[in-house]
Amino acid sequence: MHVFIWVLGLSHTCREGRTSHISHLNMDISVVVPLFNEAESLPELTSWISRVMNGNGFSYEIILVDDGSNDGSWEVIEKLKGQYPEIVGIKFRRNYGKSAALNVGFEACQGNVVITMDADLQDSPDEIPELYRKVTEEKFDLVSGWKQKRHDPLSKTIPTKLFNRVTRRMSGIHNLHDFNCGLKAYRKEVVKSIEVYGEMHRYIPVIAKWAGFSRIGEQVVEHRARKYGTTKFGFSRFINGFLDLLSIFFVGKFAKRPMHFFGTLGALSFLTGTIMALWIIGVKLYHITMHIRYTREVVEQPLFYIALVAIIVGFQLFLTGFIAELVSRNSPERNTYQIEKTV
Ligand code: UDP
Ligand code: MG
Repeated sequence: MHVFIWVLGLSHTCREGRTSHISHLNMDISVVVPLFNEAESLPELTSWISRVMNGNGFSYEIILVDDGSNDGSWEVIEKLKGQYPEIVGIKFRRNYGKSAALNVGFEACQGNVVITMDADLQDSPDEIPELYRKVTEEKFDLVSGWKQKRHDPLSKTIPTKLFNRVTRRMSGIHNLHDFNCGLKAYRKEVVKSIEVYGEMHRYIPVIAKWAGFSRIGEQVVEHRARKYGTTKFGFSRFINGFLDLLSIFFVGKFAKRPMHFFGTLGALSFLTGTIMALWIIGVKLYHITMHIRYTREVVEQPLFYIALVAIIVGFQLFLTGFIAELVSRNSPERNTYQIEKTV
């Protein structure tokens, strides 16, 4: 009897599981919101999002990823969940950063279009329908918001301008003005194919491009001043941001073939050094055989030291390339590629 009830129960949960899955398969939009200490903003944000969604007849979910808040944000989320069943709350045990929160949200989301936005009400949910349209109708892989008119202090806007310029040049994505806007829309496939870690959330368009998603567009969005709380990123954002750009660029280009980078540089340096050394030895031998008195000893010539350094550095670079090649050969990801389609 027990077994029978148990089986019944199981089949019941299975069926339930499947039906809910089917309904999720056709979900229009997942809104992913990373948040760290934004308790005051959350009620306003969720009610605004759901107002926009219901007004446009979208099926949706709101994934709130609490990045280790300690201001009671999680309690607010739990309370809101009772009011809005569309909410999916995920709570980190500690603060891991915006990128980590986004990554977890991307793993969890089910909607055909995924919208990311900040929790601080600086991004307006009213932009969602137009972003959705751009992805579904204009077939963009990614649409990034552009805060053309910003409500931030000058200390933030000027470095950001410079930053965007460098990123544009290095990434080859010339049509984006504002890489780091929190408000973005993605085709589901994009977020399921990329990984965001460290502080790489600033460069998601670049990561997407490296993963082979090249239809990247932009939409001017309204930007509002922060209503509650304060910014969570200090001046370190600029230093970390620049280092991240370098790693993204390098990893994207050479991660699978490090020897091409280090090997080329190393070989060039080694060769230059060797030629200089041979030249110095040649000159010396010539002087000896011709019995000419030389004006300077070998160790007194700058060229000697330059040759020495070039040979050593070249050899080191070459060795680094070799070791990196071995590391990449041992990586479990070494043969992971993005396959778009098969027939
Ligand atoms: N955020 C986060 N984890 C962090 C820092 C920030 O989830 O460690 C969230 C934050 O709550 C907000 C978004 O990331 O929803 C953007 O942060 P903020 O508004 O402070 O950045 P700014 O607008 O100053 O660039
Ligand atoms: Mg903000």
